[in-house]
Amino acid sequence: MPTAHAYAATSAKSPLGPLAIQRRELGPRDVLIEVKFCGICHSDIHTVRDEWGAATYPLVPGHEIAGIVASVGAEVKKHAVGDRVGVGCMVDSCGDCSSCRKGEEQHCLKGMVGTYGATGRDGQLTQGGYSTHIVVTEDFVLKIPEGIPLDAAAPLLCAGITTYSPLRRWGAGPGKKVAIVGLGGLGHMGVKLARAMGAEVTVLSQSLSKKEDGLRLGAHHYYALSDPRI
Ligand SMILES: [Zn+2]
Ligand SMILES: [Zn+2]
Repeated sequence: MPTAHAYAATSAKSPLGPLAIQRRELGPRDVLIEVKFCGICHSDIHTVRDEWGAATYPLVPGHEIAGIVASVGAEVKKHAVGDRVGVGCMVDSCGDCSSCRKGEEQHCLKGMVGTYGATGRDGQLTQGGYSTHIVVTEDFVLKIPEGIPLDAAAPLLCAGITTYSPLRRWGAGPGKKVAIVGLGGLGHMGVKLARAMGAEVTVLSQSLSKKEDGLRLGAHHYYALSDPRI
């Protein structure tokens, strides 16, 4: 089995530390990825601190994974060795239920498999991207275009898609106004994406302490929620 070197939490209170973990042997449709970058999402922190309950240890977080394909199973068609790829918050689903057939694997009727802290369809606990390597079935491996550096691509896989999806669904674009509440990890992505889509962008923040950053990232307007005039 491929060994990966990872950063794992061993309890809700301990800091993350180095741990060698075993990835599964490559199945016919599996892809082995050498992880180059992994974003830090606040969900990682909630999970390792067991703030959402049911955490299992040791736990390797990380679901904004960008890397290079190191090896592929015999039947893999979508990816080849050397490809630039990413993995987000899901690594598997049944592939066969009505949700999966609609491309809504997150609503898989048998339960999608989370990138870490979940039980995979092989019965093993999944471990995330704070590691040197990960094995993922090809359907949950995304291509990263040449024009996007891997370090910049990683946060698009959770914070990015989380903000892109509603902007796209509600038609953000020229002539539309978008307000982003909070300029944090997701908020700054929302500002950049909404601006790139052509919308008029307003940030509603607690204070004006990040106003300069907000405007630099593309916001047209920036207000403090603590200001009694708004
Ligand atoms: Zn996340
Ligand atoms: Zn399904």
